[in-house]
Amino acid sequence: MGENKLYDNHGRPINYVRLAVTDRCNLRCFYCMPEEGIKYVPKDELLSYEEMLRLMQLLAGMGIDKVRITGGEPFVRRDMMDFLRALSKVEGLKKINITTNGTMTAALVPELKSLGIHTINLSLDSLDPKRFFQITRRDVFTQVWDTFEALLAHEIPTKINAVVMDGQNTDDLIPMVELTRHHPVSVRFIEEMPFNGEGSNYPVLEWNHRRILAHLKEQYPNIEKIPDPPFSTSYNYHIPGHQGTVGIIAAYSRTFCGTCNRIRLTPKGVLKTCLYDDGVFNIRDLMRAGATDQQIQDTFLQALGNRAKDGWEAEKNRKFGTPASESMATIGG
Ligand code: SAM
Ligand code: SF4
Repeated sequence: MGENKLYDNHGRPINYVRLAVTDRCNLRCFYCMPEEGIKYVPKDELLSYEEMLRLMQLLAGMGIDKVRITGGEPFVRRDMMDFLRALSKVEGLKKINITTNGTMTAALVPELKSLGIHTINLSLDSLDPKRFFQITRRDVFTQVWDTFEALLAHEIPTKINAVVMDGQNTDDLIPMVELTRHHPVSVRFIEEMPFNGEGSNYPVLEWNHRRILAHLKEQYPNIEKIPDPPFSTSYNYHIPGHQGTVGIIAAYSRTFCGTCNRIRLTPKGVLKTCLYDDGVFNIRDLMRAGATDQQIQDTFLQALGNRAKDGWEAEKNRKFGTPASESMATIGG
């Protein structure tokens, strides 16, 4: 174990950071944000691009080789492409991935390809424009579909992420699986989590990973389990004859915590060592107070030395309200 390498107190190696570059978004997906939006972080409280690049350089020196750019919607932040160009030059970062709602992304796809972006996760909860509008409260399905087609045309490995919501989009599950018949995409169904920024919790999760799988098996009795990549958060499946694959992410049931290799940085620089914790340290304040590189790295090491073993423990240890008081746009998914 290298001295500076990131491991947690449960012996898990940490090589993946999810960097939420903004909390702003042009959609209002009801499971993520209230209709009127959330109280956005003032611009001077956001991590600057320079601060993010410094952090990524330091983290790359500690064994982080994979970063996911997320938000809010990453592409609503001004000069995002300049940032991605600089990020693609950070030594040691082998994979830069992006999660996007796809509304502003289509025209950028050629450059994303040339920058070597490793995969794009496109969030799309319905193939029906009317249902898409009901869920996102914005009438922009066509723009998202254009992004999907551009990603396919430029052969950027693409995952479509759909949150499964009782009474909303369960009729979309099979049509979405059908996308894998002719396209080499991974369609992933995510359990709905209570991070809606409204403070409201659903009493029971109606569509958990077991029910989603049972539903798929009714339509595709010959669906087969395929091996999950190391540290995968999804259970992965393939339907014989299809080009793509299907994944199910038990984000609420939290069945994957045992191999969790990731940390999160929020738009204002709060380090989360678990999706369900309420933040363990503000790294922006430390940097703005003039901390040295070594001090920053030591802070990461200390924080990881005190990490909850799973999302249930992290949720129990929260000091500031329930997960539902947070919007996923301030966490990055
Ligand atoms: N705006 C971008 C997008 O939608 O792809 C990136 C940020 S968004 C917060 C990241 C992911 O979190 C999306 O795939 C979204 O569907 C998912 N997400 C947001 N709220 C969620 C919730 N309450 N439960 C499960 N997934 C959620
Ligand atoms: Fe915006 Fe993504 Fe949240 Fe939808 S899920 S409101 S696109 S941040």
